[in-house]
Amino acid sequence: MSETALMGVSRQKLLLDLVGVRKTFDGFNAVERIDLSVMEGEFFTIVGPSGSGKTTLLRMLAGMDQPSEGAIYLRGESLNDMPANKRPTCLVFQSLALFPHMTVGQNIEFALKMRKIAPAARKERALELMRVVRLPETYYSKNVMKCSGGEKQRVALARAFTYDPEILLFDEPLSALDYKLRKTLEKELKDLHRETGKTFIYITHSLEEAMVMSDRIGVMRDGRLVQVGTPEEIYTKPSDKFVSEFMGEVNIVRVRPDGSGRYKSEDLAGSFTVNAPASTDGYVVIRPEFLRFLALPSDADNCLTGRVHNEYSLGSRVQYQVRVGERMFLVEQPRRQSFGGGDVTIGWDAADAIFVAE
Ligand code: ATP
Repeated sequence: MSETALMGVSRQKLLLDLVGVRKTFDGFNAVERIDLSVMEGEFFTIVGPSGSGKTTLLRMLAGMDQPSEGAIYLRGESLNDMPANKRPTCLVFQSLALFPHMTVGQNIEFALKMRKIAPAARKERALELMRVVRLPETYYSKNVMKCSGGEKQRVALARAFTYDPEILLFDEPLSALDYKLRKTLEKELKDLHRETGKTFIYITHSLEEAMVMSDRIGVMRDGRLVQVGTPEEIYTKPSDKFVSEFMGEVNIVRVRPDGSGRYKSEDLAGSFTVNAPASTDGYVVIRPEFLRFLALPSDADNCLTGRVHNEYSLGSRVQYQVRVGERMFLVEQPRRQSFGGGDVTIGWDAADAIFVAE
């Protein structure tokens, strides 16, 4: 783990340690030799495209699957032989698995009833948890199927907390919800994490979602953890082209040193100033918000000439597609621009772009 990645969590104690964890299905490595440490009270998000091994990793943490190789330690003790029901973990799924014929209260209390907790104490705990997840008390007697998607998600969360697990494992719990609700619940989950002090391990496809909530993020690709870091680190220092592309829509230019301190691209005219640590081949990653329209080519360290191909309103911003030769660049501006037609010059400063070595 890098020094920066440990900042903020360095005073916390090590909770989980994954050492060389691999999971093989019929000779196929779904998870490939993962080494990872998670600290007590951390919000750790595993992000990656479909099929990258996120769920497989989470299932091994929950005890639903065993590693084919390697070990998972909880405070130094191997979890490999500890069954799922003995682990201090609780899994919250995307498909909520709520009991449809029961009320909100009955759903939340189910685990307490199984443990033979008295009805009054169960109700008290359910109401307390409903307050935690911001469900009105009147919902206690409401049939869970009459709740909205967001409310059901809160019921599932409250139910997960009844087990009082040390570690909550979330498998894309918000992915079925609409954008606005997802944004609200992301912030609420982050608050809930802070208020409860529990360790959250969360998986998602969305790096944007991961950025909002997490203390640290692990990016997975083809069963491997390709980068682990704080949201800031992942955003500003992606370890490779894959991580930078995974960040959303970005402009990527493959460059190589031109021998005079600047860089050239194979398919774009001119040379570029790049903040690169050494004279190596690599990729310049320019986020759309860091590309701008220039009145004069000298208004930025680097410039390109092209034609506006399309424009889209993104609500708070406007995105332009600018065709430069055979390539399309994305430029985002806070406001709509007016162009007189003809060529436009777009540009960026070297300090605003990220260089990733090949
Ligand atoms: P998604 O985001 O789509 O849920 P994921 O990153 O969670 O994907 P996994 O579900 O962990 O990915 O799957 C990783 C790989 O392992 C996939 O190629 C999947 O087909 C394979 N896999 C997962 N479980 C099994 C299984 N029980 N048997 C065989 N292959 C499996």
